[in-house]
Amino acid sequence: MSFTLPPLKYAKDAFAGFVSENTFNFHHGKHLQTYIDTTNKLVAGSAYEGKSLKDIVTTAEGPLFNNAAQAMNHEFYFNCLSPEENMPVPAPLLKLIEQNFGSLESFKEKFAASAVGNFGSGWTWLVHTGGEKLKIMNTSNAGTPLVEGFTPLLTVDVWEHAYYLDYQNRRAAYVEDFLKHVDWDFVAAQL
Ligand code: MN
Repeated sequence: MSFTLPPLKYAKDAFAGFVSENTFNFHHGKHLQTYIDTTNKLVAGSAYEGKSLKDIVTTAEGPLFNNAAQAMNHEFYFNCLSPEENMPVPAPLLKLIEQNFGSLESFKEKFAASAVGNFGSGWTWLVHTGGEKLKIMNTSNAGTPLVEGFTPLLTVDVWEHAYYLDYQNRRAAYVEDFLKHVDWDFVAAQL
């Protein structure tokens, strides 16, 4: 049973003020497809056959980790997006965000600063570390908070391929627009 490209839950041209259909064609149709195809090739005939992506990501190393983690990270990222701008944050999650970061606005500022400061290629995350604790963290390359035992709630892809066609070097503008297009219902459902 091999891994297949997860469908997007929205149209690729649904984000007028954010990334374009062209970016989705490359990012979802080419980059993610390649991570999935490479994972399938590396898994075939190995001890990882039949394992879930999460099982692979939390135990494998090297190229298999890199490709399986990128497959997982991208599916998660695409699910974090909503064409609807500034969706309301469900009350239980909003309360946790306010407890941990002071306010939703303060959380967004800290998350954006972390994403803009994530040097090179990687991901910026909101994670649940346990109890009522949330944390913003950066990972590099294919890194995922799953290996630290944290529960990912939200992620933004800050690899240049995620935004370069639309924003060129303007990562801060991409992150600002990303934060307007978060699917907060999906994020809250991860808790
Ligand atoms: Mn990407």
